[in-house]
Parts: sequence; structure tokens; C-alpha cells
Amino acid sequence: MIVIKLKPHIAVKQISGIINLIEKSGYIPNISKSDGVTHIGVIGDEQAILKLPFRRLGGIAALSRTTKPFKLTGREYKSADTQVKAGHTVLGGRKVVVMAGPCAVESYPQVLGIARAVKKAGATVLRGGAFKPRTSPYSFQGLKEEGLKILAAVRQQTGLPVVTEVISSSGVGLVSRYADILQIGARNMQNYALLEEVGKTRKPVLLKRGMMSTLEELLMSAEYILAQGNPNVILCERGIRTFEKYTRNTLDISAVPLLKQMTHLPVIVDPSHATGIRSLVAAVSKASIAAGADGLIIEVHTNPDKALSDGFQSITPIEFSRLMTDLSKIAHAVNRTI
Ligand code: PEP
Ligand code: MN
Repeated sequence: MIVIKLKPHIAVKQISGIINLIEKSGYIPNISKSDGVTHIGVIGDEQAILKLPFRRLGGIAALSRTTKPFKLTGREYKSADTQVKAGHTVLGGRKVVVMAGPCAVESYPQVLGIARAVKKAGATVLRGGAFKPRTSPYSFQGLKEEGLKILAAVRQQTGLPVVTEVISSSGVGLVSRYADILQIGARNMQNYALLEEVGKTRKPVLLKRGMMSTLEELLMSAEYILAQGNPNVILCERGIRTFEKYTRNTLDISAVPLLKQMTHLPVIVDPSHATGIRSLVAAVSKASIAAGADGLIIEVHTNPDKALSDGFQSITPIEFSRLMTDLSKIAHAVNRTI
């Protein structure tokens, strides 16, 4: 990747000239701002990119190469934290963002009831799956477009932006029409066609770590999205598969501070899928905030025992409300708000 560092007081016209040249030559410009300096990353044949007549356009302070495997996601390219906006919510800032809702959308009254309760307790994003990638083809697969319509109607009622999963590249257009944040599930972390498709949108993308994926593979998957020109990626640690069988997955807590060192992207934790056990969700949520997570995504259900999906790991709205009170103390202790 070639990194073009722009001069501090470059004119807007000069910036568009540089961007036009990159696009006309068949490359995607990746623009980022860090400590008041704008950089444009260009991925492709480096020799050919360096031969483009940038200097003639003016306004350029320096051209350099990155050699690291993490190009657009790495702190080397962009040292300042990336902030991703969804509705009025900002991920990657001082405020810890809590997303909450049912695993699966079951009905309008179900989602509305949960959404109102979690909003009252302090959640600022509503989660809910309309397309469910289930391990068994015989399990509830989600309400699909009907579920998306329910989520959009609840957003209308509550003002909460919606995060929901997209499971195929052909579904990106449909899900984008309803969702505020596109979720890529653990099972699809290395579905490169899907990653490129969400990369072509400018919607925030919540990218979950694959259950057998390394952090390097997670960041490489994020690179696929950024390389298409979409910088709005949120990473999610949701537990990985180990020999331990008591919990559904093993939360890799060190992934949180490690990812924060490696990348400028926001990092959140999913304590529900990480543990698979509702009585563990509170402790793991607290640990995640203490470890520096920028947010949480938590499964909440008014009647977990009757839930159509993941009831055993869902907490009730009352438990969620209590947890939010505790989390605000932890957030405070690590100089954050919630
Ligand atoms: C989910 O969020 O409901 C989900 C299916 O998560 P994951 O992809 O992490 O298993
Ligand atoms: Mn779930």
C-alpha cells in the first residue's frame, strides 16, 4: 500500500484532484485523518502507483509504503481511534456503547417490549437477528424480511439504531435498506464475497471474530471491508472454540487490549455467545469494560426459557438493568462513561 500524506492546509480542490487521479487509474482511495493530518491509502501495484503524476497536483507532503500485513486497519497507518457513527451513537469514543436485544426477532410486540426496556436501562443500539445462521438447518432460521420490517418499525418507535445480521452477499442490498449496522456473524468472518459486498456500502459493519480464527485473520477480514472504501468497521470478540466444554466458547479477554494496540478500529465484546450461560453474562461484561472494550452486545429476552433462539444465554430486562448500573461503575473506574 502507498500512503499519501497530505499537507496540513491543502485546498479542497487539490484533494479532489488527487482522489480523481487515484480513481481514474483504477484504485480505491482510502482517506483517513489522524492527529489533524489527512492520509490517503492506495492499495495495488506499488511501482505503478508511485509512477502516477501526484506531485504535479501539489498539496502532498510525503509518499511512503506500508510493509505491515495490516494496512488500513493498523495503527501504523492511522494512529488515532476510529469513531463509527450509527444514528446518534458513536462507537470508539469515550462512551461505552451497549447494544442489546433478542437473539432472534420473533414478533413486533416482543422486540418493542425488549427495546423499550433496554433503552430505559441505557442501551443505545437495538440488536435482533432476522436472518439466523443456525448450526442446524432444522432450527428457527429467522423471520427474514418480515423481521427486518419489525426492527425498522421498532426503531421508528424508540429511536434506537438497529444492528442485524446479513448472511449472504446477495442479501446485503435488502438488509442495508433496514439496518443501521450490518452484522457479519462468526460463521461468515471469512466469507470474502460477503465482506467485499458490505465494503462497497458505507454502512457501519459489526465484524464478529470467527470461532476458530486468529486475531490476524480477524484483522485481515476487516481489511477486505476497508479496502473496498468502507472505513466503518467495528470488531467483536465473541469467544473462540477451545477444549473447555462448560462454556459455549472461551472468551479471549486479552484480545481486547491487544486489538486496541494493533488497530484503530472500535472493539466490542459479546458476552452472550462467549459464555452461552446467562449467569456468566454480567461478570464477563464487567471484565470486558475493565479490559478496555468500546462496547458490548448482549442478548436480552423477556422470557428466555421460551426464546426461539439462544434462550439459555439471554438475560431478562431486569437483569440487564441491574447490570447497566454495575457497568457504569466499572466504566467510571477506567475513565469512560456509559
Ligand atoms: C448472534 O449474534 O446471534 C450470532 C449468531 O452470533 P455469532 O455469529 O457470534 O455466533
Ligand atoms: Mn444468538
